Amino acid sequence: MRPSIRLGRILGIEIGLHYSWFIIAMLIVFSLNGHFHQVNPQWSAALRWSLATMTALLFFASIVAHELSHAAVAKARGIPVKSITLFALGGVANIEKESSDASSEFWMAIAGPITSAVIGLLFVGIARIVGWQPHAGTPPAPLSAGLLWLGYINIALAVFNMIPGYPLDGGRVLRAIVWGINHNLNRATKIVASVGQFIAVAFIVFGFFRFFYAGAFGGLWLAFIGWFLADAAAASQSSVEMSAAIADIRVGDVMSRDCLPVDASKNLARFVDEYLLRTGRQCFTVVQNGRQLGIATIDDLKRVARNRWPFMKVADIARPLDELQTLSPETPLAQAFDLIARDGMNQLPVVSNGELVGVITRGDVLRFMQTHQELKAA
Ligand SMILES: [Zn+2]
Repeated sequence: MRPSIRLGRILGIEIGLHYSWFIIAMLIVFSLNGHFHQVNPQWSAALRWSLATMTALLFFASIVAHELSHAAVAKARGIPVKSITLFALGGVANIEKESSDASSEFWMAIAGPITSAVIGLLFVGIARIVGWQPHAGTPPAPLSAGLLWLGYINIALAVFNMIPGYPLDGGRVLRAIVWGINHNLNRATKIVASVGQFIAVAFIVFGFFRFFYAGAFGGLWLAFIGWFLADAAAASQSSVEMSAAIADIRVGDVMSRDCLPVDASKNLARFVDEYLLRTGRQCFTVVQNGRQLGIATIDDLKRVARNRWPFMKVADIARPLDELQTLSPETPLAQAFDLIARDGMNQLPVVSNGELVGVITRGDVLRFMQTHQELKAA
């Protein structure tokens, strides 16, 4: 998920907010206001709202700290991390690739829950220091009430994240342990997906039971979490099957090889009429005096307003290959698939010995996957 609003950088990692975050931020401030009203009905509305806002901000800072701890371990293990995004369901660190060994995966996954637990205990500890007494019988002071809520919510977060259902942290920890024992990531993922499915069903059954027999609305919430876990388990199961199916397919097997050459001096309007619309192809090699200048794609064209097409040349939209992310024909297809899926790219040029030999598009990859799916269903 890409951040929609950038907040800044910590440890070189971009921190951002997704628009969906504002909904949950408002819900949390509102429910905190209600919570503080219950703690002490004497507090003024101004006090409650400002306390609720401060507490919510610290809560989101705790989530960033949780994600940063995943990211810090990833970076220390040589796995690049692009950004951390807060969205409606919490936070997510956009870690560039899967860990290559079980111990990195283990520490990367467990860092988050440990951080949340430590932060939770710290908040409770500070509440003690500023005067909160567990069995005093009187309601806590406003500052302590905020700190206590933060303490409990962070500990709850640590516990929830340790549910052993992939892709929750607990599922990753379990997968790393199984992986460390059997040295087979695909088998480990399958086993953890089954455990995740079992837990998911348990959540759904227990949740509905609570809802229908005890009338507890929280039951629906549990069932919802179960549904989310079941979905995630099914997705990781099928991604394992897919990666096993394409393990020895290379980009060169699937790419389109027919990038038509087009002269750099041609104007864009004629390029559209004579090349793009007539051939339906996606990729063109821009050539000047028999030399490759770069490539031109529909995406490059779309960045130029239509009414400017007659006045611009193909050379103006061509991008040199060394400025682009390129693949080699030997790159495993799975890696190309990750790049296309994660970065929302429509196509990637394929280069061999500095020369463009083809292009792999989202369509090429999807067509390939579909053929595999259909064969499997037959
Ligand atoms: Zn986490």
